[in-house]
Amino acid sequence: MIPVIALVGRPNVGKSTLFNQLTKSRDALVADYSGLTRDRKYGNANYEGRKFVVVDTGGISGDEQGIDRGMADQSLAAIEEADRVFFLVDCRAGMTATDEMIAEHLRSVNKPVYLVVNKIDGLHAEAQSAEFFALGLGELHLIAASHGRGIKQLIEDALEDI
Ligand code: GDP
Ligand code: MG
Repeated sequence: MIPVIALVGRPNVGKSTLFNQLTKSRDALVADYSGLTRDRKYGNANYEGRKFVVVDTGGISGDEQGIDRGMADQSLAAIEEADRVFFLVDCRAGMTATDEMIAEHLRSVNKPVYLVVNKIDGLHAEAQSAEFFALGLGELHLIAASHGRGIKQLIEDALEDI
């Protein structure tokens, strides 16, 4: 069985950028504005010799109505079907109320969740990411998706016992 990794988090935290890095394709749209990816997108990843399926989601804005409601439902469905969940947050934006809401849901889900702090490029990563420990999801996985930093270690950590 090929493991399935779901990418969840607020819009604009870098989920599609990470998806593209993992699949090395242009299948997921990456944009400078929020909420472009409406549906789940599946990609075959073969990263550093590990094969897995990665699932991109439109994101959870915390203010779901109409189309956004569908986006949140897609994220919840992606979490349900995944073996591993990567919860992305944005180190530049800092922690938000929506991050706390998503974390609360993920703490109740009985599967491995990896808290991925993205956009650490150009930041004092250890100091500026420390606030995310308050989400209660354990260890922080620091990455810069657009620069390919930290991704190899993240995948090794997430798949080591699969
Ligand atoms: P999504 O809505 O979560 O899928 O986020 P996107 O992947 O579309 O990225 C949102 C914005 O963040 C885009 O402008 C990306 O170029 C930018 N971004 C993604 N990863 C990084 C990163 O590691 N560092 C920086 N500085 N920007 C990033
Ligand atoms: Mg996206």
